[in-house]
Amino acid sequence: MSRPRADMSGIPGDLAPVATVLSPMLAGDWRAMRPVVARERCVKCAICWLSCPVQCVIERASWFDINLAACKGCGICAVECPHRAIRMVEEAGA
Ligand code: SF4
Ligand code: SF4
Repeated sequence: MSRPRADMSGIPGDLAPVATVLSPMLAGDWRAMRPVVARERCVKCAICWLSCPVQCVIERASWFDINLAACKGCGICAVECPHRAIRMVEEAGA
């Protein structure tokens, strides 16, 4: 998947030659485990939303979902969910 190049216009040209192209790295690129939400178990208590250290839990109409591009797979949401609605699974290819 190609990524947009970082904006380097703010780096002074005479500071140093830039030998590499900077690119953003999303947690979804290196995560080993990912959370899976069982929608039928979710009661929208929002504890996962409150617990996530990177604030990547998203509110849907009838459950809470995960933004997997930003999720780092720490598993805190799965531990904290009082209804066991979140389980951690291995990333494919991890
Ligand atoms: S903590 Fe569990 S039950 Fe509560 S909103 Fe999150 S997934 Fe749903
Ligand atoms: S696994 Fe960690 S980073 Fe991902 S949604 Fe749960 S608490 Fe947030």
